[in-house]
Amino acid sequence: MQFVAGPAVTAEWICTRCGVTNRKLVAVGRHEIMDRCVHCGLRHRVSEDERPVRWRAEAA
Ligand SMILES: [Zn+2]
Repeated sequence: MQFVAGPAVTAEWICTRCGVTNRKLVAVGRHEIMDRCVHCGLRHRVSEDERPVRWRAEAA
């Protein structure tokens, strides 16, 4: 897991290909990140949703 300086939140997102739940630390104030699925490696654009923890993911 990568180090994030300062306050951070955990973003959970579901891989659109294999369905695995991924988690990433995101600095507070960021609303979109790029991440790779830990299981299949597919790259996703992950964006904040109205729910605090579960983020939206789309293959990118
Ligand atoms: Zn995957």
